[in-house]
Parts: sequence; C-alpha cells; structure tokens
Amino acid sequence: MLALIDEYWRMGVEIILLWVLFYQIYRVFRATRGIRILVGLAMIVIALTIASILLKLTVIGWIIKSAATVLAFALLIIFQPELRNGLARLGSTGFFSSTTSEQKEFLDTLADAVVQLSNKRFGALFAIERSISLENHAETGISIDGALSKELAVTIFHPKTALHDGGMTIGSERVGAAGCVFPLSQRELSDRSLGLRHRAGLGISEETDAVGIVVSEETGSISICVDGEIEKRLSEADFRKRLEELFLSPGTPHEKVDQQELDSEARRIGSGDRDMVSD
Ligand code: ATP
Ligand code: MG
Repeated sequence: MLALIDEYWRMGVEIILLWVLFYQIYRVFRATRGIRILVGLAMIVIALTIASILLKLTVIGWIIKSAATVLAFALLIIFQPELRNGLARLGSTGFFSSTTSEQKEFLDTLADAVVQLSNKRFGALFAIERSISLENHAETGISIDGALSKELAVTIFHPKTALHDGGMTIGSERVGAAGCVFPLSQRELSDRSLGLRHRAGLGISEETDAVGIVVSEETGSISICVDGEIEKRLSEADFRKRLEELFLSPGTPHEKVDQQELDSEARRIGSGDRDMVSD
C-alpha cells in the first residue's frame, strides 16, 4: 500500500494542480464566446492526435506537433482581449487580489457617480459584477469597455441620450456596456412605487451574484439589490458604507432586509395606488 502511494502520489498532485489550473481558466473564460472556439479547437486537436496514433498517420502526427508552438502563439494573439479581461477579473476576485486602495478609489468614483445621478434625478441602473460573469447581459446592450468616471455615468444616463434606457454593466472595475436589458424580477412587491427599473435591478441580483444599484428617476432615491433583496432609499452615507461592505470585505455576510419590515414600511408610506410604470 505504502509502496503504491509512494509510486503514485506525484501523479495525484499533478492531476489536482492541472485540474485547478484548467478549472480556473475555464471559470475566467466561460462566458466569453472565445471558450467555444477554444473547446472546438481542442476537440479537433485531440481527435486528430488520437486518429494519428491509432491509425499510425505519421504525417498528421508530425504536423500537429510542429504546429503546437505556432498555434499557442496564435491563440495568445487572438484571445488577447479575453486574456486581458480574464487576468483583470482574476485580480478583482481576489485570486491575485488587486490592491485595496485601487478598489477603494473605484468604489469612491462609483459612489460619486451614483450620488450625482441621484441629485440630478437621472434614472440609472447599474449591475456590478462579482464572481459570475455579466458578459451575456452586457451583450444585450452597447459595448463601452471603458474606465468608469462620474462624467461618463452622468452623460450616459442623461435622459436625452441614446444609451440612457436600460442598465450599465460594470466588471473588473470597468464599464462593460450600457443600454442593457436585465431580467425582470417576477417577485410580488408590495411597494408599488417600484417599477421596471427596480425590478430589473432586483432581477439581475436574483439571476447572478451581481450587485444592482438603482437611482430612481421619480424620487432620486438610491437602492441596492443583493441576492434578490432590495435595500431601498439609502442615505448617501449608508450607500457608501454598504458598497464598501459588499466589495472591500467579501467575507462579510450582508444584512438582508426583512421583507415584513419592508411591507409594513410600504403600507406606512401608503403608495398603494400608484401605477407601476409611470413613464
Ligand atoms: P423610477 O423610480 O426611476 O421611475 P421605476 O422602478 O419606477 O423607476 P420605471 O419608471 O418603470 O421604473 O422605469 C422605466 C425605465 O427602466 C425604462 O425607461 C428603462 O430605462 C428601465 N428598464 C425597464 N426595464 C428594464 C430592463 N428589463 N432592463 C434594464 N432596464 C430596464
Ligand atoms: Mg417609475
């Protein structure tokens, strides 16, 4: 038994390390269209290799071996944008852990943008990616792929621009796309002042682990949606605090808002007769 373990433990370690490596690569690229090309290519290479070994097709075997290096370089160039985004994502999900001061700066920019949108009463909707990629949702809008700034957010959500309708995705501390259509939450909401924008913020937080941020066009109020729960009408200070809790200390469990408390608050405000879609 010991002799067996002694003989095979290296193989076991290698398998585990390779599995972790390939799983991480897959996790990073799973939502990009590139993964389909990669899987397709891998299948062709594997099939050709097996065929060349079984049928002793020496020329094909030789071509695959010689092409391997060239192919590796070609893949690096073809997938350069995905690799860049993937590495950035690894950094931001704590695998290599991007520096806290950079994250803090990004959160400050985001909070400043949201507060300014709220002061101007521009309706806005953001989905901030956590570990599940928002790529599929970003594809429903117009790609931006740019750094976030207060000015960019205010320009995009200005009610007279072409991109103001819909949501903005943010991942790896960059703006992915704007004008995106998010899934609408089908949940019963007793607060009738919560219309489609709020439902879309809730919906994206139900379907993914993203954090939804909604600025109401009607009232300018700021709400945060996490794991299918909405925290409504946050003060500026509470909003900033909540952002830091959610993104700077990922281990901290967030306090879910009690639905009963929300319901009784909604009754107290007495907004029962308002239309769900007002504009
Ligand atoms: P507000 O307080 O700003 O009025 P609300 O929750 O009442 O917000 P609506 O008044 O219904 O929401 O807002 C409509 C806007 O919500 C649309 O113009 C559009 O920009 C956005 N919206 C609606 N559905 C979606 C969706 N599925 N994904 C993203 N954005 C959406
Ligand atoms: Mg409305």
